[in-house]
Amino acid sequence: MKKIIIALDGHSSCGKSTMAKWLAKEIGYVYVDTGAMYRAVTLYSLRKGYFNGEEIDTNALSADIDNGKISVTFKFNAETGRPDTYLNGELVETEIRQMEVSSHVSPIAALGFVRESLTAQQKAMGEEKGIVMDGRDIGTAVFPQAELKIFVTASAEVRAKRRYDELTAKGDDVKFEDILKNVQERDYIDSHREVAPLRQADDAIVLDNSNMTIPEQNEWLLAKYKEIVG
Ligand code: C5P
Repeated sequence: MKKIIIALDGHSSCGKSTMAKWLAKEIGYVYVDTGAMYRAVTLYSLRKGYFNGEEIDTNALSADIDNGKISVTFKFNAETGRPDTYLNGELVETEIRQMEVSSHVSPIAALGFVRESLTAQQKAMGEEKGIVMDGRDIGTAVFPQAELKIFVTASAEVRAKRRYDELTAKGDDVKFEDILKNVQERDYIDSHREVAPLRQADDAIVLDNSNMTIPEQNEWLLAKYKEIVG
């Protein structure tokens, strides 16, 4: 069967990665969570003191990127059936999902040199096709030639509730209002940045999953894939 590139873009916490991971497993494709790459670079910047919440030391960060000091990799976790994110060889999967990183990631992801570096890595990952990639600019900037493009959205309240449930299930002490604010702020910054802003590709199919269950959205996505590959 022919292999294709599947690009899933959309707003923060809209369930893109849940769908993307499920589909990749179902059809034997590689899954790449590009948000995890931006999150890992953010974690690195915070740990190094390059970002204090106000200003970013762009000289220091771009020098470290140019000198190959930030390596973000994925390793398949057989127990969870999903890839884990590593920053310079350290497992950071849990840390990059915490609010500290969520509330700093969008300004880091708006930097042109950060995007250039991560986009180049993402393009290389898709050379062999057979990939499901989720993010904000996959169908517009990373793979404008992707055979299947989906743009996922849901109301901000629904998305914040999902993220709240996910974090509290892990034992994180978070407030719903803080998460809703974070979701709205990230949407704003991601959509208004100069380089590769979040926007729906002209040839993307829109999915509003506010009132869909996870199995329903998975089946919807599988059907779209089948329509393309025949
Ligand atoms: O998908 P996730 O919510 O984990 O992404 C975290 C952040 O990374 C987004 O809010 C956005 O600022 C940035 N991002 C991006 N481009 C991508 C993926 C994520 O700018 N392709």
